[in-house]
Amino acid sequence: ASPAGTTWVKSVCRYCGTGCGLYVGVEGGKVTAVRGDAQDHNAGFLCVKGAALPQIMGAKDRHLHPLVRRGDKLVRASWEEAMGLVASRFQETIQKFGPDAVGFYGSGQGLTEETYVANKLFKAGIRTNNVDGNPRLCMASATAGYVGTYGKDEPMGCYEDLDHADVFFITGSNTAECHPVLFRRIVRRKERGQDVKVIVLDPRRTATSRIADLHLSCTPGTDLAIFNAMAHVLFAEGLVDRDFIRDHVAFGEGTEVNRALADYEKFLQSWTPAEAARLAGCKAEDIVTAARWFGARGRKTTSLWTMGLNQRSRGTWANQLVHNLHLVTGKIGEPGSTPLSLTGQPNACGGVRDGGALSHLLPYGRLVANDQHRAQMEKLWNVPAGTLQPKPGLATVDLFRAMEEGKLKALYVMCTNPGQSLPSLERYRKAMRKEGAFLVVSEAFHPTRTSELADVVLPAALWAEKEGVYGCTERRYHLLEQAVKPAGEARPDFQILCDLARRLGHAGLVPFKTPAEAWDEILTLCKGTPYDFTGMTRAALKESHGLLWPLPSPGHPGTKRRYVRGDDPFVPADHPQRLKFYGRPDGKAVVWLRPYQPPAEVVDADYPLWFNTGRVLEHWHTGTMTRNCAELRQSQAEAVAELHPEDAKRLGVGPGDQVKVTSRRGAETFQVSVVEGQRPGSVFAHMHDDQRLCNRITVDAVDPVSKEPEFKICAVKVEKV
Ligand code: SF4
Repeated sequence: ASPAGTTWVKSVCRYCGTGCGLYVGVEGGKVTAVRGDAQDHNAGFLCVKGAALPQIMGAKDRHLHPLVRRGDKLVRASWEEAMGLVASRFQETIQKFGPDAVGFYGSGQGLTEETYVANKLFKAGIRTNNVDGNPRLCMASATAGYVGTYGKDEPMGCYEDLDHADVFFITGSNTAECHPVLFRRIVRRKERGQDVKVIVLDPRRTATSRIADLHLSCTPGTDLAIFNAMAHVLFAEGLVDRDFIRDHVAFGEGTEVNRALADYEKFLQSWTPAEAARLAGCKAEDIVTAARWFGARGRKTTSLWTMGLNQRSRGTWANQLVHNLHLVTGKIGEPGSTPLSLTGQPNACGGVRDGGALSHLLPYGRLVANDQHRAQMEKLWNVPAGTLQPKPGLATVDLFRAMEEGKLKALYVMCTNPGQSLPSLERYRKAMRKEGAFLVVSEAFHPTRTSELADVVLPAALWAEKEGVYGCTERRYHLLEQAVKPAGEARPDFQILCDLARRLGHAGLVPFKTPAEAWDEILTLCKGTPYDFTGMTRAALKESHGLLWPLPSPGHPGTKRRYVRGDDPFVPADHPQRLKFYGRPDGKAVVWLRPYQPPAEVVDADYPLWFNTGRVLEHWHTGTMTRNCAELRQSQAEAVAELHPEDAKRLGVGPGDQVKVTSRRGAETFQVSVVEGQRPGSVFAHMHDDQRLCNRITVDAVDPVSKEPEFKICAVKVEKV
């Protein structure tokens, strides 16, 4: 029952990319409760993080007034002083060194309208493409995978596919802890006794593998070989759909779509299960079983993956090899059969990927390097031809490298924590404090491992203190309504960025008084693109419990499955086939010939153990919010290093001992946890702890296509402290 006097305001969870709908309970002007939205996709359920959301609002680390640096100290300042300093330093830097000496580093947690204002201000006002964001650290390989295979970003399926699938292929995802409400939906299928098979491909035996009918543990990085071997089995055992391949599939190698089915079959010949098993350190018969279940006739297969595939130096390839399996079996585009990449953050899809707030993108599928796309955006933004720059800006790791080299002199960081989340961390922490560098951080919390490095820390309104749109994994856009006033002197990022635009002389470009006005402009930009959601007016979003694009006109129901005739408005009703992959000119998706390639760093005599990092159920990313909730902090306070019993014995350590984990880039000390499910020869460390920084150890090698770093694999040694 609702506590008396509580009003309920519709919103969305502030944490993961599942995007659970909820209501915020407000009493006396404070957020006092949350409850899941029974009419949204999560059917009223929230995980432990979502349920604890009210605690973050009044947390002790809430940042309540602007700070500016005086020597070694950050001291309290007025908004006027802080914003005056930010504007003058950006203005001086641009005048002296040119627009590319400044940049913006955003977040998949910012609201769409906030990210939009920043993107427009920097790309069309300041005229630099140095706009990137933390989705580069988590989703860039998924994006590159979708674009390379289908010509367009974002999944074609939806969460409802979880209710129809007979087989789940979960790879590189600890869904149980990282997307718990979606995991629950799969568990429920099993609990009801339905004939559902779950395959988990992951070096670790995680909480997700507890429901696995087959857990395939492999040497880190060798999943590329396993995917090819599964395709080998699908062809060898006649489990492919040759009619589907004929109608819907093209073949490519390198960067060209220049191969044929026969080339692919020849390529797969050497990828026998035995060969993949030899490389991967698993059983060949398990690969065969996985392929048979994936390709079984008359069964629906859904693949789910996230950072285990994306955060890799060959993350784009790993993504594409999963798409290959769906395309050769035709298990795509029908209820229960879909390749569904799970997103880490609540608005990485809606705000950053779709909104085009990465250094190579413009809004809604447009590219900075494409003359026509720039011309379209210049017209839509009413700026002179030639305003937008054709050269892609710096992607995340390069952005911070440019800071290290002294080329990037002023950086505005919004709603993210690169001082904890970047790989090879010490290198880039030094870059952020480099003499002559100017770092602005807009944050709802202080101190964080980034705000402590900043020259100016702006207090940002948090979650229910502001309004705007979030877009989650399944192309579902939600409106988050403002429920309470911002704490202290905090302001919404939207307001802060509009103020900065005015101070930099770009008020005409960013004339919005409210996020709703910016949303109206955003609707004009998506019109006529494959994202078209012009029917998602503010009023329609307010009334709904989330809407799935494409939704090109008011009253349109939205699109559960893209590329499907009768569902996707961009597939003509008279199209001769059920599917049309209209993202590519020939209407076909591409199966790519991708060999196994080892990770950027492999184990050797000096660094003999594989190192991997990730999340736990109770904490989200760098813990800025969840470590401010008493119950979550107490239940899993400190990051630990998980070792297999054999490794612990060899190292002479047991539970609770301290170990130093060292890579070629740095070291960190962790308490040992001895875990049977850990793969022998490897170490797993939690990423949420701001005192034990696992990214001192990780490698900053990036995927050449997606530019996403290989957080998931590097080589370390472990010593007892
Ligand atoms: Fe929030 Fe994700 Fe938990 Fe849903 S599953 S309540 S979106 S953290």
